[in-house]
Amino acid sequence: MGDKSFNAFEMAQQQFDNAADMLELDEVTRELLRNPMKEFHFSIPVTMDDGRKKVFRGFRCMHNDARGPAKGGIRFHPQETIDIVRALSMLMTWKTSVADIPLGGGNGGVICDPHNLSNREQEQICRGWVRQIYKNVGPFTDIPAPDVMTNPQHMLWMLDEYEVMSGKKQPGFITGKPVGMGGSLGRMESAGYGVIINIREALKKLSLKANATSMSIQGFGNVSQYAIELYIQMGGKVICVSCWDQKDEKSYSFKKENGIDLKELKNISDQFGGIDKSKAEELGYEVLDGNEWLVQEVDILIPAAMENQITEDNVEKISSRVKIIAEGAHGPTTPEADKIIESKEIFLIPDFLANAGGVICSYFEQVQCNMNYFWTKDEVLGKLDQKMTFAFNSVYQFSNKNNMSMRVSANIMAIEKVVDACKGRGWV
Ligand code: GLU
Repeated sequence: MGDKSFNAFEMAQQQFDNAADMLELDEVTRELLRNPMKEFHFSIPVTMDDGRKKVFRGFRCMHNDARGPAKGGIRFHPQETIDIVRALSMLMTWKTSVADIPLGGGNGGVICDPHNLSNREQEQICRGWVRQIYKNVGPFTDIPAPDVMTNPQHMLWMLDEYEVMSGKKQPGFITGKPVGMGGSLGRMESAGYGVIINIREALKKLSLKANATSMSIQGFGNVSQYAIELYIQMGGKVICVSCWDQKDEKSYSFKKENGIDLKELKNISDQFGGIDKSKAEELGYEVLDGNEWLVQEVDILIPAAMENQITEDNVEKISSRVKIIAEGAHGPTTPEADKIIESKEIFLIPDFLANAGGVICSYFEQVQCNMNYFWTKDEVLGKLDQKMTFAFNSVYQFSNKNNMSMRVSANIMAIEKVVDACKGRGWV
């Protein structure tokens, strides 16, 4: 988000245009899919703890629902913009399509910084968000979920407001809820685990064993922590993690050559995944500049923080040892950097495939809510593995057959399915 000249929506549109050219899509279909079908901007007035009133800006975009109700997260971030919401809603349409779940794409957000808000204030923002958009979201229209800096508690407040307004229990309205309150076992793990399932499959294609590889990762939030957990379980070694430091307003990389200890780092991090520098130093971590994660001598890189992180300016610094980049975050690589990554023959697993685990599990959560019958964690994670593995291999086969990158292949496959749905319905 940092760079003002970077526009996530323009980048998403550019990627769509490239795929649309390849698919030789007609003008009307392009027109429909280049923009969200619906877009909402609204104000959320909140009485702050000190009694003053403050108005927060909220958004929701429903990009496309031809394949099913729109689905996608809500982000709380001080640099949130409508263009980020537009971009993410589009990505969600492609993500649900490539994952082959019967849902469309949506996204939402609020410009705010939860670091500086009390729980009560956050609750008011959640409830206010639902009040403003109530008529245009719901279990059969548009189903929200967590994203950056939103969590199961936020989802439960939103559900409660929605149910109070509708006068009935509708746990399928929102996903990523706490387990026991309509949440699914395995949902917390799903996005991070999904990234590693993709990597596991990619390693097989490259004839590599996880226990002979190492990794460096950007971000220490939900996606990153569970990605690290599963990768270490598979025998891999994570040597560097980078994360945001709220106090210093910059990021740092934490490095341990013989492998980081996940539990140890979790113990010294806050709820947003900010790691305590001095405690890390005491535990023997080298504390380096935030960009250092990208230049490590490792086999696998995972950008799992924000968009616009691997750019023309730093892509050349990636070590020649790197074999796989799996995009845990949305849009972390710019199109210019993408070309260079391709020329270096690095196996890139694109964002909406790599991080589809979260929404796949959200879909399972909805199914369980609608049946009011909940599965075991093994059952959920087993189904996640099946879906993710199938999606990865479908894109891989397409890419091999057509001699196209994984990103272009995923785009084309996902867009084609959405186009068919729009045409089938007679929209275009
Ligand atoms: N925010 C997550 C994503 O972008 C989850 C979306 C969802 O579960 O609906 O994939």
